Amino acid sequence: MKKINIAIDGYSSCGKSTLAKQLARELNYIYIDSGAMYRAVTLFLLQHNINIQNHDEVIGKLDEIDIYFEYLDGNSTTFLNGKNVEKDIRKMDIAKQVSHVAIISEVRQKLVKQQQHLGRDKGVVMDGRDISTVVFPDAELKIFVTAEIDIRADRRFQELKDKGIESSLEEIKSNLRDRDYIDSTREDSPLTQAEDAILLDNTSLDRASQLKKALEWAQERIEMLNSSSGS
Ligand code: C5P
Repeated sequence: MKKINIAIDGYSSCGKSTLAKQLARELNYIYIDSGAMYRAVTLFLLQHNINIQNHDEVIGKLDEIDIYFEYLDGNSTTFLNGKNVEKDIRKMDIAKQVSHVAIISEVRQKLVKQQQHLGRDKGVVMDGRDISTVVFPDAELKIFVTAEIDIRADRRFQELKDKGIESSLEEIKSNLRDRDYIDSTREDSPLTQAEDAILLDNTSLDRASQLKKALEWAQERIEMLNSSSGS
């Protein structure tokens, strides 16, 4: 059975990663959280006291950064230079800086190359901002997820609370607005809905209904691919 790649893009905290993880589990595909990679680069730069506004300084450090994922207890977990950083990269100080790092073209080139390599054999569900437009422009299924800002802020607040990370609802809301603005107005690979992406507004959808829709789309594509190739 031939596999497809699934690209999921959208605004911050709109449930992209929840959907991507569930889809990967159902289809037995690999889930890749591309945002975790930008967060891990940001963590490295902050840990090494690099001035993020100084792009030459940032670019000079990129060769020292090695990011990979491992499945721990069934969850995709982010490693930075051999260390599990899954919890550290979710903190507010990273969320506040990451979009400023993600505007740097050399950072994007490094991560996009790795992301494309991870998807070379298909069977990948990847979520981010430029997956449909830049990383996998040929993905068989592209979904653009959106939801109202208050719903997104509430969900993120709850998610952080569950992980034991302190934050405030107002701080989260303003961070989501800032990141959405920077991510969709940057020059290199701005967040935008690809022409052939399906729009999924999950403001009033629960996780199960969202998954059901996306699974139907995925299964349609998988059947199409396999019937057209005769396998
Ligand atoms: O997905 P997440 O919210 O963890 O992403 C963190 C940040 O990383 C985004 O706000 C964006 O600035 C950047 N990002 C990106 N391109 C991607 C994924 C994330 O620029 N494909």
